[in-house]
Amino acid sequence: MGLKTEVLAWLFRRPVTENYPEQKKKPYQRFRGRIVYYSKRCIGCRLCERNCPVNAIVFHEKGRIDFDMGKCILCGLCRDVCPARPKAIAFSTEYDYSSTRKEDLKNLVK
Ligand code: SF4
Ligand code: SF4
Repeated sequence: MGLKTEVLAWLFRRPVTENYPEQKKKPYQRFRGRIVYYSKRCIGCRLCERNCPVNAIVFHEKGRIDFDMGKCILCGLCRDVCPARPKAIAFSTEYDYSSTRKEDLKNLVK
């Protein structure tokens, strides 16, 4: 394909970029977004806190844990080691939670 033909062909293709934040992408099913903590399922073992590689978890007591989403690297170790059944930690599909206020960078609680 010649250069002119190539340029013309691109003029009529759909853009590959998205107009974020006006258009938000729908995350795929297993997306790792803001952490959800199910406080009633938690048995208070503290395994999540001990295994977090960036110390993003502050354990207060059984049923009360804070996840600092400003530090979290979404590795999933806390969820993987959680022995509660069903697990007390899950990922939501919420990815648009950036903020200049540190107090906004928290997990969701259910
Ligand atoms: S996902 Fe990883 S970094 Fe985030 S809180 Fe859990 S263990 Fe820590
Ligand atoms: S690993 Fe699971 S059960 Fe244990 S303290 Fe953390 S959230 Fe609770």
